[in-house]
Amino acid sequence: MKELKSMRLHIGILGKTNTGKSSFLNSILNQEISITSSIAGTTTDVVEKSAELFPIGPVTFLDTAGLDDFSELGDKRIEKTLKILNRTDVGIIVCDYNGFSDVELDLLEKFKALNIPFAVVINKNDEQAISDEKLNIIKNYTDNIIQISVLKDEKLTDKFVELLLKILPEEFSNSQSMMGDLINADDVVVLVTPIDKEAPKGRLILPEVQAIRDSLDNSCVACVTQVPQLEKTLSVLNVKPKLVVTDSQAFKEVNAIVPEDINLTSFSILLARLKGDLKTFVQGVKTLENIKDGDRILIAESCTHHRIDDDIAQVKIPKLIQMKTGVKPIFEHYSGHDFPNLDGYKLIIHCGACMTNKREVLSRIMLAKNAGVPITNYGITISYCLGILNRAIAAFHLKY
Ligand code: SF4
Repeated sequence: MKELKSMRLHIGILGKTNTGKSSFLNSILNQEISITSSIAGTTTDVVEKSAELFPIGPVTFLDTAGLDDFSELGDKRIEKTLKILNRTDVGIIVCDYNGFSDVELDLLEKFKALNIPFAVVINKNDEQAISDEKLNIIKNYTDNIIQISVLKDEKLTDKFVELLLKILPEEFSNSQSMMGDLINADDVVVLVTPIDKEAPKGRLILPEVQAIRDSLDNSCVACVTQVPQLEKTLSVLNVKPKLVVTDSQAFKEVNAIVPEDINLTSFSILLARLKGDLKTFVQGVKTLENIKDGDRILIAESCTHHRIDDDIAQVKIPKLIQMKTGVKPIFEHYSGHDFPNLDGYKLIIHCGACMTNKREVLSRIMLAKNAGVPITNYGITISYCLGILNRAIAAFHLKY
């Protein structure tokens, strides 16, 4: 089978306590990744483990606490467990020969409401086989079922991958390419990747690596350079590049160097298109036209990272907005998975979301929409403030 090129698939492992969720996961990966024991309720928090699962590609397992812990502390754990549904691409319900109870049925309702594809793993078939009656109840909801024994099954991973492939969401099974519709075989793509204080030591960041891989997947010539070498790079190429992609923070300099007749965009705009909703983000930035002193703007980042002096979220974006609009909004910052209460914000400016899956970005867009707060992202905001937004989105036939 051709290896599927996908973004990282987030797999939620959910069910009641003591059905063997963590042992199941450990067996699949053949390593001890979560604390497991036969004592009910050992996994008290969500445990994440990333892995490569052939042929699906990179996945993150979200191993959760049991959904039937009715203690006071248990309520909090259940709340945390259910929050991961916002970033779950596929749900795996682990149960045993006792079949489904109200707990699993409630979970099914949530999967349905959120449009999350799911499958059922019936564990412990070495102890007791599930009765036909109980199995038929599960079959009323799905045919995607495997019956296994974590202790005895030798082909567990193969069985599980087969099951996963049946429920893989369209965007993973038919993974959209980052630039595939913008470039053709043998085109030259120039990628501007500043190696500055923010760049991690000794490696490129994920969107840059993804863009290189995507260029190669599309049989293009990927040309990686930095701002000071960009003019030289363009001059030694004897063909016009089809596309230049830059880190948004270098937009101003790169825009000044790259001739107008060459399409220019940024990694974070490509990611907004790949994982989010580019039109919504372009619409969202219009809010800056009417922003006033004291309006609250939320700058949201999906993960915490080392902050430098002129950090993009804390310093660069607020400065650019103040210069563009001439007003002084209040900037508030948030990092992490669960969005804060959005009441009272005039605008959300989201990071490139390179470490976040499509479902989570879309769920954030939904939360913003439901709260009536426009949302945009870093690349769109920076190019808007620099007056080059139309150029940055022209390759996608969009106009501000
Ligand atoms: S997820 Fe957001 S904050 Fe984290 S590294 Fe990617 S762009 Fe930066």
